[in-house]
Amino acid sequence: MDCIFCEIIKGNIPSTKVYEDDHVVAFNDLNPQMPVHVLIVPKKHIASAYDLTEQDADLVGRAFLASKVIADKLGLQNGYRIINNCGEDAGQTVKHIHFHMLGGKTMGEKII
Ligand code: 5GP
Ligand code: ZN
Repeated sequence: MDCIFCEIIKGNIPSTKVYEDDHVVAFNDLNPQMPVHVLIVPKKHIASAYDLTEQDADLVGRAFLASKVIADKLGLQNGYRIINNCGEDAGQTVKHIHFHMLGGKTMGEKII
């Protein structure tokens, strides 16, 4: 299997980690779209949100709990946005589920 995020998780591709526990890792996006742009990534290889199963429910909760720790660490207590691109139509490019955590300035127009 050829997955960039699995390679980052294994340490074979370098990244700037901002958080790690037994289930989730978070690192800076290579191409940041905001002053803070972190990717929160479950360590288990799951291709997308659409590929989640019942047994992964806890993992998604853990990813969101990690965002609180990251917010405190990176000074995002005033707010941040979490985005998941799922599948082709949403423009998902890396086929390993991840949540973009964006912040560090007041955000512009919301999609929804
Ligand atoms: P997607 O488009 O799948 O929602 O988001 C994939 C994200 O992964 C993009 O924001 C892209 O910049 C980031 N990305 C792709 N390859 C790498 C990499 O090798 N390292 C890091 N840190 N981020 C990456
Ligand atoms: Zn993977």
